[in-house]
Amino acid sequence: MAKIILFGAPGSGKGTLASRIVEVESNIVHISTGDIFRENISKKTPLGLKAKGFTDKGELVPDELVIDMVRERMEREDVKENGFILDGFPRTLPQAQKLGEFASADVVLLLDVPKDILLKRILGRYSCPNCGQIYNKWLNKPKKEDICDKCGKKMEITQRADDNEETVKRRIEVYEENSAPILKFYEDLGLLKRVDSINTLELSGQEIKRLISPVK
Ligand code: AMP
Repeated sequence: MAKIILFGAPGSGKGTLASRIVEVESNIVHISTGDIFRENISKKTPLGLKAKGFTDKGELVPDELVIDMVRERMEREDVKENGFILDGFPRTLPQAQKLGEFASADVVLLLDVPKDILLKRILGRYSCPNCGQIYNKWLNKPKKEDICDKCGKKMEITQRADDNEETVKRRIEVYEENSAPILKFYEDLGLLKRVDSINTLELSGQEIKRLISPVK
C-alpha cells in the first residue's frame, strides 16, 4: 500500500502523474483538493461558495477550510485500506504540519519543472468533462481529435476557469511564496524525492513503481 504526496507548481504534472500511478496501483485513492473544490463550486455547496472567491483569483483557500476537508476524506475506509495520492495538498507549512497529525506519507515526490514549461502546460490544458482525463492542445492531444482516449466518449473542450494567463501567473507566484518551508519540512523528515521535469506519460509501469517506492 502506497502513501504518496505529489508536490509541485501548478502545471508541474501532478494530476497526470496521479492518473499514471492509479493505472499501476488500481485501488489507491487519488485525492485532489483542487478537484474537490471544483466539484463543490459547481454544485454551489456552502464549501464551494466560500472557496470560489479564492480559487477564481488564484489565491489559496484558507487553511482551516482545506485541512478539515482533507482530514474528513482521509479518515474514510478506502484510504485506510488502499493508501492515497495527495495531489495539491499540503500547500502551506501549517497544512503539512497538521497532515502529519492524521496521516503519514511514505514518499513526497517533488515535480520540478521550469517556469516557461509550466505556463505552456497550463494554458494548453483541458480535460474530458466525462472522466476528467487531462490533455494539452500542444503537448498531449487525444489520438482522435474529440474522442477521449480513456473513456471513449466524445468531448467538448473544457478548460478550467482558473487556467487563464493572469490567474496562472498568480498561482505560480503563490507556489513560489509557500513552497520552500514545506520542502524543507519533508527534506528534514527524509521523505523528499526530486523528479526533474520528466514526461510522466513516457514512464513504464516498472519505472512508476520505482518512483513511488518509500524513501526509507
Ligand atoms: P489545483 O487544482 O490544485 O491547482 O487547485 C485549484 C485551486 O484550489 C488553487 O488555486 C487554490 O485556490 C485551491 N486549492 C487547492 N488545493 C489547496 C490547498 N491545499 N490549499 C489552499 N487552496 C487550495
